[in-house]
Amino acid sequence: MIDFPLSRLQPQEAAVYAALGLPSGSRPSTRSAALLQRALELFHSCSEPLGVSEPIRLDEFAGIFAGQGRNAPATPLAGVFPRAERLHLFAFTLGARISGEIQRLFASDDFALGSVLDAVASLAADQAGRIAEAWVESRDAGQKKGARLKALLYSPGYCGWHISGQEKLFARLRPERIGISLNASFLMSPLKSISGVLVAGPAAIHRFSEVYPFCGQCKSPTCRERGMARSA
Ligand code: SF4
Repeated sequence: MIDFPLSRLQPQEAAVYAALGLPSGSRPSTRSAALLQRALELFHSCSEPLGVSEPIRLDEFAGIFAGQGRNAPATPLAGVFPRAERLHLFAFTLGARISGEIQRLFASDDFALGSVLDAVASLAADQAGRIAEAWVESRDAGQKKGARLKALLYSPGYCGWHISGQEKLFARLRPERIGISLNASFLMSPLKSISGVLVAGPAAIHRFSEVYPFCGQCKSPTCRERGMARSA
């Protein structure tokens, strides 16, 4: 099992301010700093982090990735996973309490604190993916000699993998056992949950130089931040 301590999930203050749109290098106001402190207190008191992962063979994953046949004609993952040495299906949730608290704050018109807690929780869920990647890499380092493998998480709904891919992923992984369910639009509940496949292989398999048609609408080119895209 992967351990998700809150101390590792908690985002850096600068990352939260950046997510809220504060320009880099700007000094947050006293009110903003107080809101962030309160949001971090709620993050610690309301989070119930749980994750689940299962190794999966490449040929079996090919069927899951194909999903309902609605993926983009060309995707980064289609070129990456066949060259992987190890695949793990993965899902994680921060739990229902923190999502409920965010909804409660918005419903009670406390938009300021609700927005900060929402940003903290989203960044923490993203950080869970980084923790899972490191977990796969450390397991591999213990089992193999030679070049270290690089693990990255790829998720339905991103980079041409259609969101309906969640259906087969959930059928195989069964994240319901940690409290995550899918609605008719394939969105996860609780909201602060992530899912996908952890792809481990030589670092080079994760790099691509193509610019895909859907990249034009991408609002968060995480491929660049993660050193995957050579150009975009
Ligand atoms: S630009 Fe966006 S959509 Fe395109 S590969 Fe990178 S993360 Fe994916």
